[in-house]
Amino acid sequence: MNNKYFTIQQAAEGVWGAVSVPGSGSLGNAAIIDLGDLTVVVDTTNLPQSGALLRHTAEQLTNKPVKYVVNTHFHGDHVNGNQEFRNSEFISTVWTRDLLSDMGEVNVDFMQQNIRKLIASLNALRSQQSDPHMLTEIDYDLSVQRALYDAIPSLCRVVPTITFDDKLVIQGTKRTIEVFSYGGGHSLSDAVVYIPEERTLIAGDLITNKTIPVMPYGNPYAWIRILKRIQKDLKIDTIVPGHGDVSNSDRITDVMRFLESTIAYVSRAATSGQAESCWLEQGVLEGYEDWHLPQYFRWNFRWLFNSMLVQNNR
Ligand SMILES: [Zn+2]
Repeated sequence: MNNKYFTIQQAAEGVWGAVSVPGSGSLGNAAIIDLGDLTVVVDTTNLPQSGALLRHTAEQLTNKPVKYVVNTHFHGDHVNGNQEFRNSEFISTVWTRDLLSDMGEVNVDFMQQNIRKLIASLNALRSQQSDPHMLTEIDYDLSVQRALYDAIPSLCRVVPTITFDDKLVIQGTKRTIEVFSYGGGHSLSDAVVYIPEERTLIAGDLITNKTIPVMPYGNPYAWIRILKRIQKDLKIDTIVPGHGDVSNSDRITDVMRFLESTIAYVSRAATSGQAESCWLEQGVLEGYEDWHLPQYFRWNFRWLFNSMLVQNNR
């Protein structure tokens, strides 16, 4: 069941995580759920090729075609494989549907130009690094960006047709899933999929496992509130995170602490009067140096630092 893009990790009876192989290009995790009479896939990874293998794996594991695909949020590493699920119905929040629809047709030149810029900045960052973990992670990122660059000409957007605001329930003969949203934290609108009988949560990027959560253009304060609600409202033994291995509910606390520490650290920086560059030289926040995607910490820092400066100057 494993392939070059992802490994299959069983989360519970009838629930599997498709966990991205670092540097393979698939980038985002996905999940497969067997509801008995129907199959649901959650997120479709970063590339059409990995999306095609995901569909094939879901059909093999459950012996059925994929009836529904849930998109947890609009980021490319969770929706770029959508086009490979031609016979499935797509589900998302109203917001996520609108965001995907507003993006319109794929603009190949524009997207490739952005990736060329990103590759150049990753190479520049790489030349200043000596830490082996950072170098490995930047190399993974470079190969992900190159794979996406090559895939862009064949990319087409698929916009969900079934939408919900707060909650949608899909009842199968063997198990039921609850798709719901507490608003946006990581992105403008984040959905999760909960399987109550299996005490399992498919979290999208609201929860990652030992991987730096991506904060720009989200709302870290709302994100913390959402995680607190998830902890309070749901009984969870197992989590399929948006990035990293299948794990347990301790990962919720990890992400919450990360967000709180980052906010505290960046607000100290923003009131210090020192330049952004002085703080960026310090590297990744202490305690998180061994997490995956360490290069995203800089992006988080810059975004939050600048939005705090704007607020302080009001
Ligand atoms: Zn994301």
